[in-house]
Order: sequence, then C-alpha cells, then structure tokens
Amino acid sequence: MRDLLTSTERTVRVMNPATGESLAELPCAGAEQVAAAVNEARAAQKRWADVAVPERLEVLRNFQRLLHEQKDEVAALISDEAGKPRVEALLAEVVVTLDAVNFYVREVPRLLRSQRVPHANPVMKTKRGWLVREPYGVVGIISPWNYPFSIPASEVMGALAAGNAVVLKPSELTPLSALKLKELLEAARLPKGLLQVVIGDGLTGATLVAAPIDKLIFTGSVATGKKIAAAAAEKMLPVVLELGGKDPMIVLQDADVEVASSAAVWGAFMNAGQTCLSVERCYVHKDIFAAFVDRCVHKTERLRVGKGSEETTDVGPVISQQQLRTVEAHVADAKAQGARVLIGGHRLPDIGPNFYAPTVLVDVHHGMRVMREETFGPLLPIMPFASDDAAVTLANDSQFGLSASVWTRDRKRGEALAGRIEAGTVMVNDVITCFGIGEAPHGGVKASGIGRTHGRIGLEELVRTKYIDSDLLPGMPKVWWYGYGAEFRAQMRGFTDALFARPLGTRARGLMHALKAFVRSGRV
Ligand code: NAD
Repeated sequence: MRDLLTSTERTVRVMNPATGESLAELPCAGAEQVAAAVNEARAAQKRWADVAVPERLEVLRNFQRLLHEQKDEVAALISDEAGKPRVEALLAEVVVTLDAVNFYVREVPRLLRSQRVPHANPVMKTKRGWLVREPYGVVGIISPWNYPFSIPASEVMGALAAGNAVVLKPSELTPLSALKLKELLEAARLPKGLLQVVIGDGLTGATLVAAPIDKLIFTGSVATGKKIAAAAAEKMLPVVLELGGKDPMIVLQDADVEVASSAAVWGAFMNAGQTCLSVERCYVHKDIFAAFVDRCVHKTERLRVGKGSEETTDVGPVISQQQLRTVEAHVADAKAQGARVLIGGHRLPDIGPNFYAPTVLVDVHHGMRVMREETFGPLLPIMPFASDDAAVTLANDSQFGLSASVWTRDRKRGEALAGRIEAGTVMVNDVITCFGIGEAPHGGVKASGIGRTHGRIGLEELVRTKYIDSDLLPGMPKVWWYGYGAEFRAQMRGFTDALFARPLGTRARGLMHALKAFVRSGRV
C-alpha cells in the first residue's frame, strides 16, 4: 500500500469512448504529489484570502470571456473524452458554467458581507452579534466523468470566489476537461498555485481525502461516497456528498402525452442516460399508459445513435465496457423476470465499442434491478399506476432521492404532489434542467447524498460560518456568574418568570426578583 501511494508509475489512459482511440496517458499523482499540491494550494490561499472580493470575481469574469470565446473547442474536447454529442457538451457543460459565473458574481459579495444577528431575548440585547463567512482554506474536489467540465467548474469557481484554494481530482476517465478548466482559469489571471489538479484513479482520490485538506466536495457513486464518508469521519473532515440517483418521472392522467413522452425520451437518453438526474423510472397513469408508451417507442426509433463528433448524433456511447455490462445486466435481469423490450435492448458494435441502443422496457416491477439500482445507461423502463397515492408510493420506494418530476396540466396538483416526493429536487413539467439553474441548490436525500452544491446553499458549504458576539457593557459582571445560593436561585427563577411566565402577575413578580439580581451584581 505504502509503495503504491508513493508511486508515480501508475498511469491513467484517456480513451475516446466512441472509437476506443487513446487520447492521452498521464501519470497518477502519488502521496508525495498530492501532499505537494495541498501545500502549494495552502500557501497560495493565504495570499488569495487577502485579495478583495471584486478582484477575485474579475478572474471569474475573465474566465467567462475566455470560455465563451473557446466554447466550440472546449465542447469538442469534452465530447471527445466523455462521448456526448457536441451540442450537449455546449449546453450542459459550457453554457451551465458560463451561467454559474453570473450567479457567483452576483451572490458572492452578498454571501461574504457580515450579517447582523438580532437578539430577541431582552437580556441578550446587551450584546451585538453578527455572522462572518470565512474561507475554509484548501477545498478538495473529487469529480466524476459524466459532466467532466461543468461539475468541477461550478464547484471550483464557488470555492475560489469564496477565498479558498482548490485541489481537484477529476475522474481518471476524463481528466483532460479538468486540465482545460485549469488552463482557462490561469489564463484568466488566477494566481498560480491556487488551483491544483491531481490526476489519478481512486487511490489518488483516497490519498487526497487523507491529505490535510479543510473540506471535501465529492461527486460520484454511492459506493465511493460511503468509503469517503468513513475516511472523512476518522479525521472530522467536513464533506458534501453528491451521489447517485434513480430518478422517477410521474405522468398523471391529465398530462400532455406528446410533451411528456418527449421529456421521458430526452430525460432517459440524453448523455446516453449517464446523468445523475436522468429519468431512470417512468410511472404513467393507466388511462394514458398505452398512448404514452407508443409515443416513447416512436420517438426512440427516430433517435440517431452515433459519435459525439457527428453533427446529427442524438445519443452517443456509454463511457466504458464496465458501464455497458451494467446496462446489459439490468436488461437481462428485467427480461428474466418478465419485462418486455419494446425497442433496443442490445449493443451497437457496428458504430463503436461502447454503443448501446436506446431501450424502452415495459412489464417492469420493483423486484427488478432496473427499477431499484442506478443503471446509468440508455434505458427507459415504464410502469403504470392507478392513483396519485400509488404513484407517490412507487416514487418513494427507493434507496435514492436525488430528483424527480411530475407531469400534469394542473400545476397546483403537480406542486402538491411534489411536496410528497422524497427527493432533493422535484420538477413540475420538466426534467434535468434544474442543474442549469444557477440559483437552484443541487443535492439529494437518502442514499443520494449529504449537503448541497449550487445556489446560495451550495455557496454556504464553501465557507465556515463564524458567529461574533460583542458585549455592549464590558464593565459589568454578568448576573448569572458565581454567587450561587438560595437567594441567587430565587433571583434566577425570577429572571425565568420575568421572561416566560404566562400569568402576567407572575411575570411582574419575577421582574422584581430579577432586578434584585442586578442590584446584587453591584452595577444598578
Ligand atoms: P465513482 O464513484 O466511481 O468516481 C467518482 C470519483 O471518485 C472519481 O474521480 C474516482 O477516481 C474517485 N474515487 C474512486 N474511489 C475513490 C476513493 N476510494 N476515494 C476517493 N476518491 C475515489 O463515480 P463515477 O463512475 O465517476 O460517476 C458516476 C456516479 O456519479 C453515478 O453514480 C452518478 O449518479 C454520480 N453523480 C452524481 C452527481 C450528483 O450531483 N449527485 C452528479 C454526477 C454524477
């Protein structure tokens, strides 16, 4: 273990998942490199914390300008290493990141302004309190391959704007996007050293968790999230865990079948179903079930599967053979238990090594892996329900709780149902798009994670909140300090009555006792 940790002989090979072509081979950072990255980041952070907030935000604005200028080149790079269609790389990676800059530029000054904490208790009005939000120091970020640019970019920018330094460990499958992010930020005049990128696999990630960082933002699978939570507990490292999902889509009988079926097809197959917020389970009211399924099959038939670099591609490859095997295993298990494949259900080797046909399944139930485990591939299992209550029960029958959607022409009804679903986000009449709303917090409940990224609540995760309390009567000893005895206790009971007794007479008598305590303190 020790040898492995200090070795730099391990490498990661970056492949184009559409072609199997090798894009790069990079050495993994060992313990020494990770330690050096954390040290350098810490030294740089000490200077950065003193940089005025507008100056920090100027770096983000510069970055936004550069990213906008290089949007096509960046989208092509993401598409090559993650496999997604270029237009998806543009929208879900570049545009989401460009928009996040606007959010940070607007919100970070407000976040970092000190905030008064008014005291309601009259005794505590002798003090003035306020909150300050300070950077943690060095924030570790460990990110996945499915959104290799926008996920780390948004977290990195928030952390930097709040005054932290960052050590980023991107997925071993997609490190080139993270290196591009660093290149762009440094070209935008981010001081050297503030953003460190350590390349490597899970071992490098574990080494970063063990290193002296001050906070960790992790995005990835539940299995890795649990390991990280255990390692973090040992050293009381605060963590945000953005984990997997099995997001349900509920289509009520009054929904627009045409619109909802398009949403199901896009929600299940965009990024080849490898989005944490993908539609992974679709529940449709029995009265519209047949029509809905029919429209889904029809629309799936028309999808053009191909390489992300081709302009006409709707659905690209899945990221790896391992991911492909998971998809196949879920389909095989469902079929063995009676599910019917209406379209798809097989690989597409003629296009490339990692392609799987977009697949619609019916006759599914919750005993099947495809309805319980995260598939992370192009599958759309559809199941009927008979009542709103039944739909909610099905949606909540999951270990996950990342996001969900409800489809109805009656917005009030949809919003009411949203309140009953156990998830970090519920969208009414849309899927996935919440990830692109800069103000919206992102994160899950149950096994889907702890804490939030994005939005004001996500920003709060990147700062330590300190409460400062300043006494307005520095020359006065406090009446509740020592001097205990029967008389003292009577006075303190008086205080309690003066503040909380219901009969006003008791409150007045309490006030008298309380005043005696002030007299005893010798200052009144
Ligand atoms: P993963 O857990 O395999 O890897 C994620 C990252 O953790 C990678 O950088 C990996 O190298 C690193 N890692 C692996 N083992 C580690 C360890 N022991 N200690 C520290 N780091 C370690 O996940 P993945 O396959 O890259 O990503 C897909 C998963 O991510 C899916 O489950 C998906 O739902 C989830 N995800 C969640 C969100 C969200 O916001 N909730 C967003 C995107 C992806």
